[in-house]
Amino acid sequence: MAAISQALVVGGGVGGLSAAIGLRQAGIDVDLIEISENHGVYHVGIIVQANFLAAMGKLGAADAAIAAGFPYDHVVNLNPAGGHIFTQPPIATGTGYPLNLGITRPALHRILVGRARELGVPIRLGVTVVDIAEEADGVTVAFSDGSSGRYDLVIGADGIRSAMRDKVFGAAHHPRFTGQGVWRYNVRRPADLADMQIYRGKPGMTVGLVPLDRDTMYVFVASAEPGNPRFAVETRADELRRRLEGYGGHVPEVRAQVTDPALVVYRPMESMVMPAPWHRGRVVLIGDAVHPSTPHLGQGAAMAIEDAVVLVDELGRHDSTDAALAAFMQRRFERVRTVVEASGSIGEYEMNPGMKLDIPGLIRNVFAMLAEPA
Ligand SMILES: Cc1cc2nc3c(=O)[nH]c(=O)nc-3n(C[C@H](O)[C@H](O)[C@H](O)COP(=O)(O)OP(=O)(O)OC[C@H]3O[C@@H](n4cnc5c(N)ncnc54)[C@H](O)[C@@H]3O)c2cc1C
Repeated sequence: MAAISQALVVGGGVGGLSAAIGLRQAGIDVDLIEISENHGVYHVGIIVQANFLAAMGKLGAADAAIAAGFPYDHVVNLNPAGGHIFTQPPIATGTGYPLNLGITRPALHRILVGRARELGVPIRLGVTVVDIAEEADGVTVAFSDGSSGRYDLVIGADGIRSAMRDKVFGAAHHPRFTGQGVWRYNVRRPADLADMQIYRGKPGMTVGLVPLDRDTMYVFVASAEPGNPRFAVETRADELRRRLEGYGGHVPEVRAQVTDPALVVYRPMESMVMPAPWHRGRVVLIGDAVHPSTPHLGQGAAMAIEDAVVLVDELGRHDSTDAALAAFMQRRFERVRTVVEASGSIGEYEMNPGMKLDIPGLIRNVFAMLAEPA
């Protein structure tokens, strides 16, 4: 890899771990720093699709993810009573990986951390960037533990609240609340639920059931939350149960299992695509730092890991970082923008059911694009 020989990755989430793995596989020295002391993740699940697994395959981690999760073929869209509306077309990558996978976030995290450690990536916890000084031939980074390092490239993968974004691009770019929130909770998987179900059609609301492993699935509710309210933890099981009222199909048995407010994960939905370029000098941002998406297409993690894989690929193709980063933007911007905007449109439609939107057609078009290599 001619463009760089030493890189720093800031953030040990999906994108940062993937970038570190890809760089190490390419023979680049990498340091990874992560602000959290315990490097924990939410206990609930994550929905990923064939394009995510294709990228995981390039990192040598797809088989482990498939073994730890629950592969399924179909995403079945139902009306609130449980009647069939349409079945989503898959992202047909032709790579031979499962079309869809439910996996717990801790399992995915263990796999990525394990792969990074196997490759010898040093992961320093409880550390962040204090200062970045760029010179013509490198970047000197001062860390919060008093140490410093010199790198050819710094990759900011520090998520939706990215401090790297503010440091490098100023405070002008921030995700905006879209009007919905998402509730998540793990429950028992009924033996006959072997595909993902999405219940659509109540104004402002979508309910999803996602198999995660042999015993577990998770329920998510995307709901209109005008004014972006905060919910005290002790109220969250009641709030989620209330949003699950009046549904048929598997939902009543799921609703009865939502009992522990501390295990309900609630997040307001926020979204943004930072204008190109996502790099300045020898610092580049990837993942949620530059393009947090609403979850309507289940593509947030896939976009982060694809960013990482494409970045490593372009660094290997070019002699200069400038050329590699320009090529990275060329390959990423439109694909990511399309996903974030389409996800946002589905949310808009859910909140404004009078609006005209051909959801099956939109999904078909976006997934046809995502079936093409990243
Ligand atoms: C509850 C929930 C459920 C989701 N479900 C799905 C789903 O089903 N499917 C899907 O595709 N996407 C899902 N997403 C979105 C997906 O998780 C993100 O798109 C993806 O994790 C982005 O990866 P990332 O590496 O950019 O950011 P993150 O995974 O958020 O990682 C950022 C990392 O940087 C660290 N960090 C933050 N600040 C600093 C700093 N200053 N210095 C050092 N480290 C720092 C953080 O601690 C974290 O470890 C979900 C998100 C949430 C919150």
